[in-house]
Amino acid sequence: MELTPNISLAEYSTLRVGGTAKGLFVVEREEDVAVALKEAAQLGARAVIIGDGSNSYFGDGAHDDLILIRMAIKGLELRPSPIEGKVLTAGAGEEWDAVVTRAAEEGLWGVESLAGIPGTVGAAPIQNIGAYGTEVGDIIEAVEVYDRKKDEIRGIPARLCAFGYRSSIFNMTERDRYVIIRVRFWLHKKLRRQLPKEVVIPEGSEATPAEIGRQIRLIRAAKLPDPHESPNCGSFFKNPVVTTVRAKELLVAFPEMPQFPASDGVKLSAAWLIERAGFKGKSWGNVSVSTKHALVLETNGKASAAEVTQAVDEIRDGVQALFSIELAPEPNFFS
Ligand SMILES: Cc1cc2nc3c(=O)[nH]c(=O)nc-3n(C[C@H](O)[C@H](O)[C@H](O)COP(=O)(O)OP(=O)(O)OC[C@H]3O[C@@H](n4cnc5c(N)ncnc54)[C@H](O)[C@@H]3O)c2cc1C
Repeated sequence: MELTPNISLAEYSTLRVGGTAKGLFVVEREEDVAVALKEAAQLGARAVIIGDGSNSYFGDGAHDDLILIRMAIKGLELRPSPIEGKVLTAGAGEEWDAVVTRAAEEGLWGVESLAGIPGTVGAAPIQNIGAYGTEVGDIIEAVEVYDRKKDEIRGIPARLCAFGYRSSIFNMTERDRYVIIRVRFWLHKKLRRQLPKEVVIPEGSEATPAEIGRQIRLIRAAKLPDPHESPNCGSFFKNPVVTTVRAKELLVAFPEMPQFPASDGVKLSAAWLIERAGFKGKSWGNVSVSTKHALVLETNGKASAAEVTQAVDEIRDGVQALFSIELAPEPNFFS
């Protein structure tokens, strides 16, 4: 494993934003995780773990103190679960959608609603990726990690991962402690939940994981800009959760405001707030709010992090001024 020196960080973010870094290690074997981390430390650099960069962007300028560690550990292995269904173990460097495709090929349920989400397997538990009523934490059995604190590889069962809305121990209480090496998914022979309301199964035909995945991918392609055409990192803000009292007050002032029940209050649509505050389609030089989806910030591939920050600040200020609600960004920013 060799260090590739002087890399362009923008190439490792689907938003295409970032200056340069000291170098890059590509990790293909679990034993190389510790080696890469130690070498980065010896070179006096901080190590940032990266997958496909579809939820990350970087600061402008030269980061001579930063080394990227790109997770490329492969492998998709299926074995029977002692309880029911099958357990699929996937390497951190596999594409997330490869898990969805493999499950569909085997006729197994659990991940079909998460079809088409960009990124790697290793990043999926970090913010507990979710879409169409499913979160990945719902079907994770355990996460295999390298523990930087204890210098050991071990498994963490899902119940200890504290999965919540776009959160887990990996981006909250134990941020930066663990490098995810593999994830074990528990997949089922039968559908265990309601189908997403967006999919249509014609009368007389049977729903299959492959068909649900196919429809979800089509819905997503129609709704979201493709990062290969318009660089973006998906939803730029989390949907805010407010108390039921506050939700009622907001409904009085804005009767058409969409609201959804959440375990800890009422979830609002950040896209609706941003659109209502007048930002859909607005541009700041090389950065703009997508005309397709108000939650997505796009660049033209030439944007600076400073321009992104300006857009983010203006959107947050505008939403705060109109609704007294604070928006929290979803992507990870490495300055
Ligand atoms: C068009 C588009 C649509 C999207 N739709 C959705 C959606 O519907 N739902 C959703 O939840 N997200 C969505 N996202 C966000 C993104 O796809 C997910 O967050 C995805 O999990 C990021 O994977 P990645 O490999 O690109 O992560 P990266 O951006 O490379 O990394 C994300 C974070 O995880 C850390 N990390 C990455 N790999 C590891 C590892 N192996 N061990 C430890 N830490 C690691 C990084 O340090 C960083 O903090 C979307 C993004 C795009 C561009």
